[in-house]
Amino acid sequence: MKCRSCNNILNKVFADLQTCPPSNAMVKKQYVNSPETFFPLLIFVCENCWLVQVDEIEKAEDIFNNEYTYFSSYSSSWLNHAKKYTDYMVDRFGYNDESLVIEIASNDGYLLQYFKQKNVPVLGIEPTSNTAAVAKEKNINTIIDFFGSKLAKEKLKGKADLILGNNVLAHVPDINDFVKGVSIALKEDGVNTFEFPHLCKLIEFNQFDTIYHEHFSYLSLTALKNIFYNQGLEIFDVQEIDTHGGSLRVFSKHINDKSKVISSNVLKILQKEHSLGVDHISYYEGFQDKINNIKNDFITFLIEAKKNNKKIVGYGAAAKGNTLLNFCGIKGVDLIECVFDASPHKQGKFLPGSRIPVLSPNKIKEYKPDYIIIFPWNLKEEIIYQLSYTKEFGTKFVLAIPELTIL
Ligand SMILES: [Zn+2]
Repeated sequence: MKCRSCNNILNKVFADLQTCPPSNAMVKKQYVNSPETFFPLLIFVCENCWLVQVDEIEKAEDIFNNEYTYFSSYSSSWLNHAKKYTDYMVDRFGYNDESLVIEIASNDGYLLQYFKQKNVPVLGIEPTSNTAAVAKEKNINTIIDFFGSKLAKEKLKGKADLILGNNVLAHVPDINDFVKGVSIALKEDGVNTFEFPHLCKLIEFNQFDTIYHEHFSYLSLTALKNIFYNQGLEIFDVQEIDTHGGSLRVFSKHINDKSKVISSNVLKILQKEHSLGVDHISYYEGFQDKINNIKNDFITFLIEAKKNNKKIVGYGAAAKGNTLLNFCGIKGVDLIECVFDASPHKQGKFLPGSRIPVLSPNKIKEYKPDYIIIFPWNLKEEIIYQLSYTKEFGTKFVLAIPELTIL
């Protein structure tokens, strides 16, 4: 395999999560007795440009299709984040009714709706037609397609005052062509922002469950700045934000656009990454041992609790949970009886690989569980707050990552 950024041959394995099905491939009831395809999940680090990456084993077109079940608007903290971002950007860059804001992977319009409320014209680009249909119901102009240089050239050339993408950059197999598309679609003085989970947090907090097939790249600023530079874009600001366990928000512009000052934050974070060792192979070694320990602790907890006749369920049928469950080799309902999720698109289906059923949270009261494992640990405050009524059953909350924790 070659590096998707610099074409260097990849030899160094960063993590081996063995095999699992695509994380978002929920199993419908009628297929619960059918076979399922498991793919290797092997993560490499490039020793030339330090991009951490997964091979594109399953084509993006097969993952982000009509069966895609992630609807951004089902998380209230994520909606709040989107609203705050909109306020910040309008305040800082002064977008108005003559601007155009393009969001790549606009999902169900969870973010663009806030620009629309401020009368800023918007355009969403979204490959999954079922989420795009929800956006269209909100009157959010949406092109149903994958973003790249081809689409940018044909439909968006030089049009955007702002191009944004949240948690999309890592999901792109051809990241060079994708960033090239941004460069094409951006006005001469336009701004681009991307948010993505920071590789350094993944390593520091053992967030190996954020690794899955749909997530092709694991990004540091060190690796990303070259990818942008090669397509004529320059990162002029970067912010550390706390979404998804610790993310970066990068601001880029055309290299030739001299109207914006380069913030000292850029150098500060590059130096921070350098002092952690992002540009040295030893930084990436030893991660496998850490995640093997998490696996052992989690399985031990489940077995011990079960021996003591405890009722264990999960909350949040997120991709993260599937990586954890499949890496831990958990199958069926003998340890974890079910997983509750607020999204009606997931209820009634089964988790890929483990085949644990997904139920509506309304049923928690019937189950009266002893333990609820929170899979989307990034939303733990929100979830614990929503489920505070379970105190009356004596329920405890369990997190497997960054280490086994019982609350
Ligand atoms: Zn590389």
